[in-house]
Parts: sequence; structure tokens; C-alpha cells
Amino acid sequence: MNRVICIDGPAASGKSTVSKLIAEMSGIKYVDSGALYRIATWQALEAGIDTNDAEAVAKFITGLKVDFVVKGNRVAYEVNGEEPGDKIRTPEINKHVSPVSAVPEVRTIVTKWLRDMRSVGDIVVEGRDIGSVVYPDSPYRFYLDADAETRTARRYKEDIQKGFIQNADQVKASLLNRDKIDSSRKTAPLKIPEGAIVIDTTPLTAEQVAAKIIELSK
Ligand code: C5P
Repeated sequence: MNRVICIDGPAASGKSTVSKLIAEMSGIKYVDSGALYRIATWQALEAGIDTNDAEAVAKFITGLKVDFVVKGNRVAYEVNGEEPGDKIRTPEINKHVSPVSAVPEVRTIVTKWLRDMRSVGDIVVEGRDIGSVVYPDSPYRFYLDADAETRTARRYKEDIQKGFIQNADQVKASLLNRDKIDSSRKTAPLKIPEGAIVIDTTPLTAEQVAAKIIELSK
């Protein structure tokens, strides 16, 4: 059975950076589950769906087609033959993604996609419910956290590099709002999976966190 390293945690806790490093350092494939919820949100908005209309979102998601392609050490996602890139990382998508991902039908479909990805080999999967719902039987389950100021500073820096115009207060409010919706939803809320190892990344570099997880996943 292929190994699955599960990395959960709130927004901007370091999951992506650390998961990509783990993939690079240990030669396994990186899977970004948040990107799938972002793609669902992006496509729903493009189709003019009201993201607060759970029924309409549920109906829409059943017809959504995403292709999975292994590219180097990651599983890439294509919609109509193209990777969406930063189109799914805008402040607008940040605003709509939590309501979309709270819709049970969306979660059922994305969870199935994520479970199927184990067939590509050993994987490191980052998200909110990976160790609690998607792969609860994996022995390698981690929960990353960091204080709100550190998370805001990290995300603000990334957003500036992407050219998004927002001040640090707006970035912080958006992060905290997503955390609130993600942790309070009925289906698969963000929480520390039972038995997961919790790592506070505030004082650590991404390299230190990745090395620690690799060591603990042997
Ligand atoms: O990780 P990222 O910030 O890209 O995730 C975007 C959003 O997707 C989260 O705020 C959350 O609403 C949703 N998500 C989720 N379950 C996951 C991964 C992401 O609900 N496993």
C-alpha cells in the first residue's frame, strides 16, 4: 500500500511550503487538496453560480471535470487542458472558497478524487480534513499551526509577490474568516485529527518542519 503523509492545519500555517519540500526531499508526489476546492469555486463563479446557494453549488459540482496529471513530483490539475495557476488564488476566490467547500456534495466528490490519487505512488497531501476524513488510517498524520500574526505575515508576503493589492489587515481578516467557516462547518470541519502530531511552525523554518515530518514518517 502506498504511503500517505497527511498535513492539515489552518490557512497559511505553512502546509504548502512544507508539503512541497517533503515531496522534493523524499521523492514522493505532492497533492494540494485546497486547489481542488479552489477550482470548484472558480468554475462555479465563472458559471455565474451563487456560492451561498448550496443546492446550486451541489448540482454544479457533479458536472465538473478536472483532469489529474503527474508532473514531476506533484499531481497537477487541468481544466479544459490547462492548469489554472494563480487564477484560483485571488482574494475573490479566498472569499468564496469556504462556503463552497462546506457543501457536502462538493466534499464527497473531492474526497473521492483525493483517495484515488494514492494510486500514483507515495504521496504527501495537504488540506483541512486529510488526516481526519480522507486518510484517517494513515499512520503519518500531522497538524501544523502558527500564531495569527505569523500566518498573516507569510500570506501577505506571498500575495504581494502575486500582485494582489490588499493590506495586512485585510489578509488577516480573510484568513481568520476562512478558519472560522472551515472549523465550524458540519461536514469534515478543520480540527486536529485524533492521534495526529501537532507542530507549531511559528519558530521553525519550513526546512526544519519538513525534516521533522520526514523523520517521523519513516
Ligand atoms: O489550503 P487552501 O488555503 O488552498 O484551501 C482553500 C480552502 O479550501 C480552505 O479555506 C477550505 O475552505 C477548503 N479546504 C477544505 N478541505 C481541504 C482543503 C481545503 O475544506 N482538505
